[in-house]
Amino acid sequence: MERPELWLKTTEAGLKCIPGGFYIDPVRPVDRAVITHGHADHARPNNRAVLGTKGTLDIMRQRYGQAIGSTQELDYGQALMMGGVKVSLLPAGHILGSSQVVLEYGGSRVIVSGDYKRRRDPTCVPFIAQQCDVFITEATFGLPVFRHPSDISQIEKLLKISALYPERTVLVGAYALGKCQRIISLLREAGYTDTIYLHGAMVGLCELYQRHGVDLGSLAPIGDTDKESLKGKIVLAPPSALHDRWSRRLADPITAMASGWMTIRARARQKLVELPLIISDHADWDELTQTITDVGASEIWVTHGREDGLVHYASTIGLKARPLDIHGYEDEES
Ligand SMILES: [Zn+2]
Ligand SMILES: [Zn+2]
Repeated sequence: MERPELWLKTTEAGLKCIPGGFYIDPVRPVDRAVITHGHADHARPNNRAVLGTKGTLDIMRQRYGQAIGSTQELDYGQALMMGGVKVSLLPAGHILGSSQVVLEYGGSRVIVSGDYKRRRDPTCVPFIAQQCDVFITEATFGLPVFRHPSDISQIEKLLKISALYPERTVLVGAYALGKCQRIISLLREAGYTDTIYLHGAMVGLCELYQRHGVDLGSLAPIGDTDKESLKGKIVLAPPSALHDRWSRRLADPITAMASGWMTIRARARQKLVELPLIISDHADWDELTQTITDVGASEIWVTHGREDGLVHYASTIGLKARPLDIHGYEDEES
């Protein structure tokens, strides 16, 4: 058996599979890239060739046009040989199209999680835990303090506030790719049928989700909608727009924010968020540790996030564990 650390290495451009000649989520342009999902820190432009699911490639095409490079689509569960390495993709449950990358070479199986979560999400295919020898995991919320409540409870909180203040607009800050569409789907599941208004930056991505068969109900770009018509409505905008000039067009807005970071009250206060909603597209502490058990790996490598917490945990249950120190992944808006 050829030890995975001999054929899978951390480089300046990110994690490289040496015999396969490709990088996974490279942080610099490379010849061949396998992309786990469409978030801009994992899926960057100007690679020569990229491999990913249809969902991931569609997101990249929409954002980068020609700069995506040449593309090759791989369905979940379908396998491909690259330089003697068997490559396949498994659902990661993070956003539309998100996948884990499974690598089989020299008698061992390595899984790169990408970003993932274990909770139900109506907008993407759920995470599948597969057995492997080495599990390379994210650790965005890799500390025991991060335990996300049920998303249903957070959506209820949002609907309650909206109903309580019919003269005001509830403005929800949410990352434009993934989080936005998940919030909308959860609102629909909770029985909210009213039109949901969108900041311009979210319109194209919502249309992309709808083309992929995700039902988001009645949506409208906020455009020139007047203050009066926005009373009692829910508006979604990227976190960066919450407090800029753009938000002045709203009727006395109540500022909400949907993020795993809302667990930290100081951060909610610092961002002037009145209604923190703890809704994350990343695994929380319990999901991270459960997943390590589920995949049965004897070795855990941690790509990004709170690496130390998870590395320490893995070693306490008798696994070999180490941080990879890959720079360039940011999950601020998670
Ligand atoms: Zn992500
Ligand atoms: Zn990430």
